[in-house]
Amino acid sequence: MNLKINNRFSTELPADTNETNVTRQVKNACFSYVNPRIPSSPKLIHVTDEVLELLGITKKEAQSAEFTNIFSGKELLPNTRPYSMSYAGHQFGNWAGQLGDGRAIILTEIENNQQTYTLQLKGSGLTPYSRGADGLAVLRSSIREHLCSEAMFHLGVPTTRSLSLLLTGDQVLRDVMYDGHPAYEKGAVVCRVAPSFIRFGNFELFSSQNDLKTLKSLADFTIKYYFPEIKSIGKESYIQFFQEVANKNLEMIVHWQRVGFVHGVMNTDNMSILGLTIDYGPYGWLEDYNPEWTPNTTDRENRRYRFGNQPEIVLWNLYQLANALYPLIEEAAPLEAILNSFQSKYEADYATMMRNKLGLFTKEENDNQLIHLLTENLQQTETDMTIFFRKLSQIKKVESEEEAFLRIADSFYKINEVTGQLKETWLYWFTQYLNRLRQEEATDADRKKAMNAVNPKYVLRNYMSQLAIEASEKEDFSLIEELHLLLKNPYEEQPESEKWFAKRPDWAREKIGSSMLSCSS
Ligand code: AMP
Ligand code: MG
Repeated sequence: MNLKINNRFSTELPADTNETNVTRQVKNACFSYVNPRIPSSPKLIHVTDEVLELLGITKKEAQSAEFTNIFSGKELLPNTRPYSMSYAGHQFGNWAGQLGDGRAIILTEIENNQQTYTLQLKGSGLTPYSRGADGLAVLRSSIREHLCSEAMFHLGVPTTRSLSLLLTGDQVLRDVMYDGHPAYEKGAVVCRVAPSFIRFGNFELFSSQNDLKTLKSLADFTIKYYFPEIKSIGKESYIQFFQEVANKNLEMIVHWQRVGFVHGVMNTDNMSILGLTIDYGPYGWLEDYNPEWTPNTTDRENRRYRFGNQPEIVLWNLYQLANALYPLIEEAAPLEAILNSFQSKYEADYATMMRNKLGLFTKEENDNQLIHLLTENLQQTETDMTIFFRKLSQIKKVESEEEAFLRIADSFYKINEVTGQLKETWLYWFTQYLNRLRQEEATDADRKKAMNAVNPKYVLRNYMSQLAIEASEKEDFSLIEELHLLLKNPYEEQPESEKWFAKRPDWAREKIGSSMLSCSS
């Protein structure tokens, strides 16, 4: 492999002067140098061809021992010095102080085709930020991160990417349900790829330490490389920067709501400054449309990170970022103006996104009501979000409301519940919807095409990753490749894969790993 090394973060920002790998509080430093743990017998399970290409690595090189060694942490790339980032964060609404990359180690930044990429191993051992934990990751959570980041990318959702998934050959102890029953699981390492892994929490750390010098250096660095369109300097540049971060995260969250993705741990340390979906942990996909749902068992009680609350949490997190940047600006009004406009911008973008899902290309006054009524109906009885919206595109303008209803009938988990009053409510909605479609100029065929480009046919349903995990525990990795290929074209019809366009099977309803996910990963 001949990668063009270009370390900007670690050459331009202050390093921790302590180079021992001991858990500690780190001051005045954006990162600490640390080497990955040497795995006992690394084995490549899966590699993403498209990410290889981005980085300029050939498929042949990916099959070499060198590749396995480097992306498992066994060997270092020549002329590189791996490091972990320092950051802080608010977890579940509370200030948590210093966190940092507890099990992530950045190998290097590289350049290819005028783009720069940061290569980061996750699960490669202890760092100065590991606190009480082991710095490792298990196979099940690594499969989930590897598959989901690529699935999200192909859905058009801003996200970090995943280059590779390897077994380390080591055992990792985990108490999945936190109920005093720890067990050994296979250890794994994923190599994540993104332009940068800087989070809201990186800024919060220096602000909390009253280290304005490093805060300013980090902000200037981030603007210089990731927001080059910001031409102003000083205070004005930080205000614009905050506006851009708000815009990017707004865009990301509208996508999540469009495809039914629930992150599960939207702490400020898990919020990318570039508006990328980052840190795939106990995430999940809405199967039945239920805004109250959260996959994260740790969040069962308060449901802070439930599907319907995600936009509000982005705003809450932006407030924390605004507080962190305030010392660079020393004026609340411009930050408040940006925060205050978030809600109305979100509502407008959400409405546009939902109109697109419904195939409405013009804007009518009553559209919000139509959308609201739909989301109410979807919650009356378990209704599969993905199947509902995908099948909705088959409706024809000349059809009756009863015919339209039959088009989507398959999306109900219990069709026999959709009778009487509920059936009437649906027929009422379809009457309104058909009337609305008839106001549109687009033909049925054009509308269907446009709707199918925003309503995916295939998403990584929770039980699908679980099946890939269970097979992999038995050394059968074929389902990882099958799902990876399927999810590369989520909007295309793939007749040979129709079985994945189906409601969640009954066995997955209450199963750990399918409907409930633990943070223990
Ligand atoms: P998360 O919310 O899972 O992204 O993680 C919150 C914090 O805990 C971050 O600082 C992680 O690096 C750290 N962390 C999570 N799991 C581990 C682990 N197994 N070992 C060390 N640090 C961890
Ligand atoms: Mg995290």
